[in-house]
Amino acid sequence: MAVGILALQGDFSAHAEALRRAGARALVEVRRPEQLEGLAALVLPGGESTTMLKFLQAGGFWEKLRAFAARRPVFATCAGAILLARRVEAPPQASLGLLDVTVERNAYGRQLESSICEATVTPAFAAELGPKLEAVLIRAPRFKDLGPSVEIVAHAGGEPLLLRQGNLLAASFHPELSPDSPVHRWFLQRATG
Ligand code: GLN
Repeated sequence: MAVGILALQGDFSAHAEALRRAGARALVEVRRPEQLEGLAALVLPGGESTTMLKFLQAGGFWEKLRAFAARRPVFATCAGAILLARRVEAPPQASLGLLDVTVERNAYGRQLESSICEATVTPAFAAELGPKLEAVLIRAPRFKDLGPSVEIVAHAGGEPLLLRQGNLLAASFHPELSPDSPVHRWFLQRATG
């Protein structure tokens, strides 16, 4: 079964490359809601969440995407994670309400303050992901008010950067921009293995 990448806006091609490097064979760039049918899993890329929202709402995607993400494996990075959140701040905007967190947009500064840091993987996940991850932060959101079913997979400087909640995996950083992405491999194994 194929893995889809939402390809309305943002860095979807970098995700496609990262997934290919991680061993994915069947990839679908999703531009119409009907394309979600039959996919094993979906990636929501980084980019600009307000623009993605407009396309999602105008394209009749909203309910189909919500239904998909409510039960299938979804890996959301940065703007994608903002779309999944229960609540969005700075400023508030609509969201799918599936990931039980509040997201504060652009919390780590502007584009020029983009940075790369080393995130520490929580011991429970280190066997699968290794002890450290490179985290590329670009106008990244902050995850706050984590609900009881949200697990912190990786963190840096006291901030949660990679979260898991059941079928959902959400990163405030961009694993697709690092040369090696154990997170894509892990996602792929869990989603299609
Ligand atoms: N700041 C962007 C937003 O709010 C997200 C940035 C990103 O995806 N790198 O949508």
